[in-house]
Amino acid sequence: MRNVIVLGSGCAGSTAAIYAARASLNPLVVIGHEPGGQLSLTTDVENFPGFPEGINGPDLVENMKRQAERFGAEFIYGSVMEADLSKRPFRLNIDGEWHEARTLIVASGASARWLGLANEQKLIGHGVSSCATCDGAFYRDRKIMVVGGGDSAMEEATFLTRFGSEVTLVHRRDQFRASKIMLERARSNPKIKFLLNTVVEDIHDVEKKLVTGVRLRNLVTSAVWEQEVDGFFVAIGHIPNTRPFAGQLELDPDGYILSRGGARTSVTGVFHAGDVQDRTYRQAITAAGAGCMAAMEAERFLEAEGH
Ligand SMILES: Cc1cc2nc3c(=O)[nH]c(=O)nc-3n(C[C@H](O)[C@H](O)[C@H](O)COP(=O)(O)OP(=O)(O)OC[C@H]3O[C@@H](n4cnc5c(N)ncnc54)[C@H](O)[C@@H]3O)c2cc1C
Repeated sequence: MRNVIVLGSGCAGSTAAIYAARASLNPLVVIGHEPGGQLSLTTDVENFPGFPEGINGPDLVENMKRQAERFGAEFIYGSVMEADLSKRPFRLNIDGEWHEARTLIVASGASARWLGLANEQKLIGHGVSSCATCDGAFYRDRKIMVVGGGDSAMEEATFLTRFGSEVTLVHRRDQFRASKIMLERARSNPKIKFLLNTVVEDIHDVEKKLVTGVRLRNLVTSAVWEQEVDGFFVAIGHIPNTRPFAGQLELDPDGYILSRGGARTSVTGVFHAGDVQDRTYRQAITAAGAGCMAAMEAERFLEAEGH
């Protein structure tokens, strides 16, 4: 029986583990399919406080893990496949083995949707990104492309005009999911050029380990052409990793955990942390802060129950 099981080894999960471990709760952290979470996908992180020269993403999350281990947190490989939150102790199926916990911190993140192109994954962190706030500043006076047709694509394209010499927005249709106001804001920005009915077929250049351009195809005319690009931003949404909790935790229509205030979820003793609940900020520092909140709430909850 564990006092705390933390789901996820990203900034939220590892920070929760640091706090829970320092409170002598011996947390078990389930690493999940992506050790270190989304920051393990990127290279330079320049906006995490405390690192004036920036820090490599994988190094940052590894440091958090080591810091938690120093105080007794245990990290295990595996993913939560199923959960039974109907009664306490909660039961979790981790790769076929059932574990019990008095409290649970769900820090399983929200994975960016990608286009699924062969070279896309190989160039993440080397010109391909899913986060304008995180990576926009690397493309000052460079050519930027954004893919998507929803509010987040319009917001990211508009934001990226602060940096790029030009921003091309590529969308596969000529209709948009984006709200009228966001679309109009993007349309009225002279730096944004729209390429509609167009898809990206390939991203170059894996050999140089750097985005240098893309191959595009117009779905109406079938015209195919190459375009130079330095920064390639995919803004087609995120998928919150909440499948094991469907029907047990209150989720919003897109699958994000609905907060009951602080780090509380709809189930007493289950706490949320990070991008799995946060569809607005999605930053390493906000996820880390949320991890701290969740661990403090778990600690107080256990204390009140006499553990
Ligand atoms: C390319 C890229 C660059 C970025 N750059 C920056 C940046 O420069 N600065 C910044 O502040 N933010 C950046 N971000 C955003 C930042 O990475 C996220 O906001 C942050 O990682 C969220 O932390 P998290 O712990 O909530 O979730 P995640 O980092 O997504 O971690 C989720 C964890 O949960 C685990 N998991 C998922 N499902 C299960 C399951 N069923 N069982 C067990 N474990 C599970 C995963 O394996 C993973 O370890 C970037 C994101 C990307 C994709």
